[in-house]
Amino acid sequence: MHKQILDVSKRRGIMYPSFEIYGGVGGFYDYGPIGSRIKKNIEDLVRRYYIIEEGCFEVECPTLSPEAVWVASGHVSSFSDLMTECLKCGEPYRADHLIEEHTGKSCEASDMSAMDELVKEYKIKCPKCGGGLDRVYSYNLMFQTFIGPGKNKEVAYLRPETAQTTYLGFRRLWEIARKKLPFGVIQIGRSFRNEISPRQGMIRLREFNQAEIQFFVEPDGKYSPRFDTVSAIKAKVIDKEGRESSLTLKEAVEKGIVKLQMIAYFLGRSLQLFKEMGINPEALRLRQHKDEERAFYSTDTWDIEYMSSVFGKIELVGVSDRTDYDLSAHMKLSKQDMTVNYEGRKFIPHVVEVAYGIDRPFYCVIESCYREEGDRVFFSFPEDIAPYKAGVFPLVGKDGLPEKAQQVFDLLKKEGLYVFYDEGGSIGKRYARADEVGVPICVTIDYETLEDDTVTLRDRDTKKQDRVKIDGLCKAIVR
Ligand SMILES: [Zn+2]
Repeated sequence: MHKQILDVSKRRGIMYPSFEIYGGVGGFYDYGPIGSRIKKNIEDLVRRYYIIEEGCFEVECPTLSPEAVWVASGHVSSFSDLMTECLKCGEPYRADHLIEEHTGKSCEASDMSAMDELVKEYKIKCPKCGGGLDRVYSYNLMFQTFIGPGKNKEVAYLRPETAQTTYLGFRRLWEIARKKLPFGVIQIGRSFRNEISPRQGMIRLREFNQAEIQFFVEPDGKYSPRFDTVSAIKAKVIDKEGRESSLTLKEAVEKGIVKLQMIAYFLGRSLQLFKEMGINPEALRLRQHKDEERAFYSTDTWDIEYMSSVFGKIELVGVSDRTDYDLSAHMKLSKQDMTVNYEGRKFIPHVVEVAYGIDRPFYCVIESCYREEGDRVFFSFPEDIAPYKAGVFPLVGKDGLPEKAQQVFDLLKKEGLYVFYDEGGSIGKRYARADEVGVPICVTIDYETLEDDTVTLRDRDTKKQDRVKIDGLCKAIVR
C-alpha cells in the first residue's frame, strides 16, 4: 500500500522529496499544491481546537535564536544522539538503531561506553560496505550557524522545538493574560533537527512542522474544568511498565495511571482532534513514558501513537508536565524574573505542554484516508481537511456549458470557497482525478442546467448523485 500512496502523492502534488533535481537530501519533503492545502487545513483545525475552543493565544517566534537560549534549555549540552561512522565509507549510523538492527533486540544501553562495548562485543560492521566502525560518540542534533558578520558574529542555532521560544516571552504574555492563570499559548511553526540518517520518509524530517501549546498553570493547578467532556472516551492505554489495557480516561485518572487530570484532558482532546482530521481511531493508543525515558523534572509524560502499516508506531503528540523547569532555567541564565504574584502566593508558573507534530499527523491522515475500490483510488478526507471543497465541471466543452460552469465557479469563489475548475477529458476521468486528491464533491453543469438552473452534485465516498438548485449550491457544498 505504501508504494501506491507514495505514487499518488508524488503524481498528484500531495508530497514529494525535496531537492529532487540535485539527487535529493534525506529528511526533507516538499508539500505540493495539494499537500499544502491539506497541511493548512490540519493546522487550522488545531487552531480551532486550541485558539477558539481552549482560548489560547498564538505567537510566532524566530526559527533562529542565539546560543544562550539553548544553553539555558539544556539543548547545547544534551540534545544529542549517540552515533558511529564507518571507517571505510564514512556512512553514519545511530548507535542504538545499529545495535537493534544487528541483534534484533531493543538496545538497553544508554551511554557512550556501553554502546561502544556492544558494538565491539557483537563485532558489528558497516551494513553498507562491511568496514569497521569508529568509536561511539555523542552528536548534537541542532543546526549551528552564525548571526551577523566578522569577528563579532554570534553563534546561533535553528530551533529544535518551538516551545523554548514561547517561554522567552513569558513576562509579556503574563501581562497580556492580565496576570491570571491558567493561560495557554500556541506556536505553530518550523523546527530543525540534524538527524543522523533519516530513512523514514515523512516520519523523520530534518526540517519539520510543529504545533506546541504551553499551558501556564499554578503548581497545584493541573486540573481541567472541562474534563467531563472527554472522560468517557475509551482508549488503548500502555502504562510505563508496559501493561496494556483498554480504559476510559476517567478510569485512567481514577486508577492513578494518568497522574494529572489536565494531561488526561488533553489526551482526550487530542484523540478527538485526530479523529476529526480523519486519522483512524482504531490505530491510536496512549503510551506513558517509562521512568528512564521521561525528562527528570517531569512527573508524567504521555504520547499518542499511531500504528502505521508502513512505519510501525508513529508518535503524533506528547503531553507532559514540564513543571517550572524551563522558566526557572531561563530565569537563572537571563537573570530576568519569571516569578508571579498570584492570589497571595509568589511562584514560578508550571507548564503543561501539548506538543503536536504536523507532518506526522499529515502522513497518518493520508494513510488512514487512502481507499482502493477496484480500479478506483481515492482519499476519504473529511471535508475540513480536503484540499478543495468541490470541483466544477461542464459535462462537455461546448453548447454554452463551459460558460455556465464558469459562472458557477465564479459564484463559489466569491463565497471564499477553495474550488477548482476542470474541463479536460471525459467526465469519468475528471471524477477520478478529483477522487485521487480527495475532493468531497463534484459539481457538474449539464444541458438541464441551462433549462432549470440545477446542477448535479456527486459525492466522492458514495458516488451518489443529487440535483440541487444553483441558488442553494453553497449550502449543499459546505455541509
Ligand atoms: Zn561502510
